[in-house]
Amino acid sequence: MRFGHREALLVSVAAGIAAGPLMPLNVEAGTAQTLGNWLARLVAFVVIGQLTAYLSQHSLPSLSDELAGYRFRNELCRAVDGGQIRLEYQPIVDLVTGELAGVEALARWDHPDRGVVGPDEFVGAADRFGCVDELTRHVIDRACRQVAGWRRSFLHGQDVFEVAVNVSATDIADPDLSGYITEVLDRTGVPNHWLHLEITETALVDDIDLVVERLMELRMLGIRLAIDDFGTGESSLGHLQQYPIDVLKIDRMFVNRVDLERPDDVVAHGIIALAQAMNLRTVAEGIETGGQARSVRDFGCTMGQGYLFSRPLDVAGIEGVLENPRWFRDRNLAHLNASTSTDDRRHHHPH
Ligand code: C2E
Ligand code: MG
Ligand code: MG
Repeated sequence: MRFGHREALLVSVAAGIAAGPLMPLNVEAGTAQTLGNWLARLVAFVVIGQLTAYLSQHSLPSLSDELAGYRFRNELCRAVDGGQIRLEYQPIVDLVTGELAGVEALARWDHPDRGVVGPDEFVGAADRFGCVDELTRHVIDRACRQVAGWRRSFLHGQDVFEVAVNVSATDIADPDLSGYITEVLDRTGVPNHWLHLEITETALVDDIDLVVERLMELRMLGIRLAIDDFGTGESSLGHLQQYPIDVLKIDRMFVNRVDLERPDDVVAHGIIALAQAMNLRTVAEGIETGGQARSVRDFGCTMGQGYLFSRPLDVAGIEGVLENPRWFRDRNLAHLNASTSTDDRRHHHPH
């Protein structure tokens, strides 16, 4: 129940009565309360009560909403500089060898009051508030410095590893992004071809010519470009050939549906065939079961990502994987090679 005018009236009358006839006599002053004084106080209480009810119903909520929005904006844009944006890394797995092929960097906001806030809640807001470019630069810098460290301590001699970061439509339009990336790669020593930029399909629909020009510029750096959540946006297949991209990431919506129990579901298979015809690599996102992993692998998809292999991990978590590469590979291979788990058998035998 909300506190409204009626409740305010009740409270103020009660307070007025308490302050009048029910008020213990002030012995020291020695003067009894007159009826006039009490009534005047009652009226004052009622007026204050009604005013409070009015304020709490009208101006206060909108004022506090506004404050929350404004505060959120300031907090978010300051969080980027202030070190509250942290990265988690989700392993990307080679579906043939089972080995760790790279990581995708995923932003997390450690909010002082709200706890961990996920990117779906703040990336769009950062874009509207005009600080998504800072966020992206922060993520690229952090991820590259991190991978440069891992390269020295765990990946020596390895010439291919993938560090994928997500960028927004605003970033693609930003003419300074390629200069920034060059600076970070030079500074950290991460090989250019290790860095992958993931762009959602919806970021590609705005101004095709401009987008293609920017993507060409980025790809000239020797970095790789991927289309994220492929199949969910509204970009036309006709434009796909124009984009200078290297990788299609198949949205988990399609991956979830391919399983040995759903052999009729052909969308993922179709996307993989299309990618192969265009000489693009594929990464299946959101793999949660062994059946899904084996299906997309058998369709020709070479990379996979999903809770089956690993959830996004903090730095210590990924370092655990990097320290035990054979353990990670063998566990993944067990999923990829188990062709007759009880689960799959159940779905395959005719009833
Ligand atoms: P995305 O790039 O498609 O990232 C994959 C998302 O799917 C991640 O959610 C990941 O935790 C989740 N995921 C991975 N495997 C599974 C699985 O097996 N099952 C299910 N149900 N989910 C899985 P997250 O971290 O919440 O990120 C959401 C989206 O936020 C990302 O989608 C990406 O588009 C965006 N994002 C994340 N970090 C950044 C960033 O630094 N900059 C920008 N611009 N966008 C970001
Ligand atoms: Mg992504
Ligand atoms: Mg995705």
